[in-house]
Formats: sequence, C-alpha cells, structure tokens
Amino acid sequence: MNDYYAILGVDRNASADEIKKAYRKLALQYHPDKNPGDKAAEEKFKEINEAYAVLSDPEKRANYDRYGTATPGGLGGAGGGNFGDIFDLFEQVFGFRSPGGGGGRAPRGEDLEAAVEMELVDVLHGVEKEIEYDRLVTCETCNGQGGKRQTCRSCGGRGMLEQVQRTFFGNMVAQVPCTACRGRGYTLSETCQTCKGQGRVRRKEKIKVNMPAGIDENQLLRVSGMGNLGPGGPGDLFVRPYIKPHPHLKREGTNLVYELKLGLAQAALGARVLIPGLEEDLELSVPPGTHDGEVFELEGQGLPHPGSRSRGKLQVVAQIAVPHNLSKKARELLRQYAHEVGEEVAPEGFWDKVKRVFRG
Ligand SMILES: [Zn+2]
Ligand SMILES: [Zn+2]
Repeated sequence: MNDYYAILGVDRNASADEIKKAYRKLALQYHPDKNPGDKAAEEKFKEINEAYAVLSDPEKRANYDRYGTATPGGLGGAGGGNFGDIFDLFEQVFGFRSPGGGGGRAPRGEDLEAAVEMELVDVLHGVEKEIEYDRLVTCETCNGQGGKRQTCRSCGGRGMLEQVQRTFFGNMVAQVPCTACRGRGYTLSETCQTCKGQGRVRRKEKIKVNMPAGIDENQLLRVSGMGNLGPGGPGDLFVRPYIKPHPHLKREGTNLVYELKLGLAQAALGARVLIPGLEEDLELSVPPGTHDGEVFELEGQGLPHPGSRSRGKLQVVAQIAVPHNLSKKARELLRQYAHEVGEEVAPEGFWDKVKRVFRG
C-alpha cells in the first residue's frame, strides 16, 4: 500500500497548506513536460497526484488515516491515476492547463450521493440493497449536443481567446476563455427542446449495491461511473448508509450495548436472564451482588470488524430498578429484610405526609 504522506514528504499531521506546498514543488519537478520520455518521472508524477488527490480532500484523507484507503469498503480505488483526472487536479492547483495537455479537456460529470436505509442486523452479514436515484444522462434527442452546433465565430472553435495584458515586465499574452461560447468552442443555432440545450436529461436509475458487513454511517461506498454524465465521462455515486435505530441494542463501533433492567432481588441474589441479541436471545447468568452500572461482556456477539470475520462484544449494562408501588405484603417483607440487615427505614405511613416533587 502506498504511504501518501511519505510520497509527498510531509508529516502525518501536516496542514492542508503544507500538503499543497509539497505537492506544488514535486508536481513541477516531475511534470511530464519537464521530463519528456522519462517513464520513471511519469510514474512518480502519477504517484504524487494520487497522493494529493486523497490528502487534499478532507473526507478522503480522514478515511485514508482511518482505514488506509480513500474509500473504505468502496467499489472503486483511490483513483488509479487516470491522466485526465491528474491534469484536472494540476489545473486546480496551478490555475492553468498543462501546455502539453492538448487543451479543452472536457470535465467529468458531477458526483452524486444517495442514502440507503438498513437494519442493524444487516451490518452483521452485509446486505444487497436496491437504490433508486436521479441522475443526468446524455439526451438522446440531440445525442448530447444540446441542439444544432456551429463553430463559435469569436474564437474559431478554440474556446480560448488571446488577451494582451500589460505587466511590469512588458506585454504578455494570456489565454482566457471565450465569452461568446463560454469556452466550449461552439454555439447552438437550434436548441434541443428535450434538454433545453443542456445536452443532458434527468433519468431515474435503479442499481443494486452490496453493503458490506461491518459498515458504519461514516463510510461512503463509491460506485464508479454512476454519477452524472459529463462531456469527459461520468462522475461517481457515493452511497451513504443510514442504519435504523434498534429497539434494544445501541451500537458503539463494533460493540453493542444493552441496558439490562434488574430488580433489587435479582441483583442481590443473582438471576438467569435472556438478552435480546442481534439474531437470537442469549442467556446470561447475573451473579449475586451485582451492582448498578456493572457491565457483563458477551464476546463475539457484537458487530464484525470491517474486512474480518471476528466480531466485537455485546456489553450488558446492569441497571438496578428500585421497586415502587409495592404491595402491602412486599413492603412488609422488605421491612423484615431491613430489620435483618440492620437498615433503618421510615415507619409505615410516614411518606404520605411528605409531598414528592420531581425536578428536572
Ligand atoms: Zn437534447
Ligand atoms: Zn468562442
């Protein structure tokens, strides 16, 4: 696995600014235009860009720090070094297109996000889910052209205009996007009615996605190429799991927590109780003299660790319920118990005179 921090030569807790600076320096040094025909430099350039693509994106960086990959459990990788993406990135950082890049690189479609609801028990084995969402795809009426195209007269189809700028060093010629065609190189002489000239239309998409065992709500699953379609190819779809609350069990990472209500006698004398596990009831022997807040752990009854067969624990937290609304007989027995252990209790009827107020 690649150590992206090492590749950029920065510290693991480097700031976004430090990462950008390190990237600029290395990218300029290894840029293919500066090292024509040098395969090693090209590889290095790809590596640097891959590292930067992950470390410059807070979400990807967090995932990388946590799981060692930019998209944990994702269907795609961290970006295998598509040169198109790399030049897009290069352009974002440096604000200009690579002169050797041929110009006019078309942008990819937008990434999309879709939420998928799942049960806690689905986290145990993983589950296949069907997702329905809207995305923009090529308009079939105009084949994505947006209508009848004609070459832009202002820029002759180049999409860029040359502009002379006066600087301290003299006049310089800068390339600026053509305003007449907004850099596209063409205008529409006839607008497609289906897509109103956009070249894309909204379509309902239905896909099946495997939600892996152990997934949690901070993980986004990437489905490559299922985002909006753009002139330079499709964006990605990111699937965000929403795990419905369980009636009895709370999730804490790979552990599950259950609050077990125990009566006074059960806590004092011990009891065999049933714990509602994820798939079946589990028997637990509560020992005599259990304290309020005491935790019993059932190993291997939690949720799976991502990418592994082993499971976390089911933690049972004892909560001792003080009995109330007791029958006359139960009160009498408790009094006998108090007398036996030497606890002083209020006489019968005493509390009728006291007004009980609950605060908070
Ligand atoms: Zn159209
Ligand atoms: Zn133009």
